[in-house]
Amino acid sequence: MSPVGRLAKETFLLADTCLTQGWYAARVAKRAPTPAAEWRFFVGAEVGQIARASMGNGPVLPTAPLARAQTATAQAIASATAVAYEPTFATKHFVARADAIRRNGDGWDLIEIKSGKLPADGDQKKVRADYIDDIAYTTFVARQSGLEVSRTLLVLVRDDYRRGRPVSELLGKIDVSARAFPRAAEFAANAPQMAAALAREQPPNPDLIPACRKCEFYEEFCIGTRIGTYDPIFLLPNLRGKRFENVRPYERITALPDDADLTDIQRRIAAAFRQGPLVEPGIAQLDEIEWPAYYLDFESVDPAIPWFEGDEPYEAIPFQFSLHLCEAPGRITSHRAYLAPVDGDWRRDLAITLIGSLGTAGSILMYTAYEVRMIRYLAKALPDLSASLNAFTTRLFDIEPIFHHGYYHPGFRGRTSIKETLPTLVAELDYKKLAVQNGGDASALFALTHAGQYPAADWEQHRADLLEYCALDTLAMVRLHAELVKIRATLS
Ligand code: SF4
Repeated sequence: MSPVGRLAKETFLLADTCLTQGWYAARVAKRAPTPAAEWRFFVGAEVGQIARASMGNGPVLPTAPLARAQTATAQAIASATAVAYEPTFATKHFVARADAIRRNGDGWDLIEIKSGKLPADGDQKKVRADYIDDIAYTTFVARQSGLEVSRTLLVLVRDDYRRGRPVSELLGKIDVSARAFPRAAEFAANAPQMAAALAREQPPNPDLIPACRKCEFYEEFCIGTRIGTYDPIFLLPNLRGKRFENVRPYERITALPDDADLTDIQRRIAAAFRQGPLVEPGIAQLDEIEWPAYYLDFESVDPAIPWFEGDEPYEAIPFQFSLHLCEAPGRITSHRAYLAPVDGDWRRDLAITLIGSLGTAGSILMYTAYEVRMIRYLAKALPDLSASLNAFTTRLFDIEPIFHHGYYHPGFRGRTSIKETLPTLVAELDYKKLAVQNGGDASALFALTHAGQYPAADWEQHRADLLEYCALDTLAMVRLHAELVKIRATLS
């Protein structure tokens, strides 16, 4: 693994959660960004441009190499400039770049521009903790490199903005100094010890913590190499705080004693890990499904800067659906799909195709209640079609709750998402064989093509990939439902 230079914000914040995680993050090469990550960068850049336009003219400083970036920052601070963008600060061990600094009396406002939402009531306590940590880190490094930081300001997206108003109204500022300054002081106090730990040749000893569940180093480098991936305790949903501490010494779910301090749902999942699949009366809800059954799934895009008149920031817009029709469990009679063109307004075309495909009777199965939101969005956007669209909501049946209170399998890894349940119950259907493997990438592929970030010439291939992905979502529902019907029969 490569040696460590100055630590950047991402590494510092990972190390603040877990020193071992920071040690690996400073050495292991980053994976190529997914389409979903590329879309987030794009949105961040779009929001950044709007914020700069509202903050006024000022130099955009070079960001590399480090010495040139530091010199340019020092010159901007020494000059008469009122605002400077992308200033770089560094200490012996740490480096940070702010989105902007703006002169405020004898000091400076340190400003970060984020694409998250501004609390409607301006209450800084409601600002996301990761945004506070982000600006607190930059404040700590900027102060240690000599900048007088008077205030820390976040620029965020306003919830009450609507497409049609001037885009300059999209963003708002919030002063988060009262939370960021104490956090920056904590970071400054911990920094020497962290720098020393991360510079050592061996990783710090790991501790099993809730963050291990999403840690990219778990399986290949860290605790997972010892206790494996089958049943670490963090697979129990919502296991946090004191409850996590109480069961931490057991490490594995199958090692937990019968009287372990768990919630009901955690206890059931733990029982499934110990004894095998568990069928409970909740599975009988499947009997409410009326035939023929329609299996519906939407893909959507949720731009920060709304695309359609009247829409709000991050409002999810459906651009694709897949629909399987079955006359009995697993017996498919037809499949329909819709995928929008990447420009124009396709919503009416999509809604009319949907209305023409869903018939007038029979349950409409969905996996999570997301489809309700999509139908309501279309009904709001297209008032003349709202009666037909809203009528569908009375026929919707969400299949996911069956996995919450009717059937537990250790292969679900304590989760209920289709990506966890499908490989266990229908092993031959596999998202990993597809070019698009999750909803985030599907959405990003469409959005980045719409925004002109992907070549138009690639659209035909992307289109085929998106159709294949969404069709698997509904085929997976058909097959999962058929498996659940067989399991439900064992209970009667
Ligand atoms: S797996 Fe857990 S202990 Fe290991 S680096 Fe990740 S968060 Fe830290």
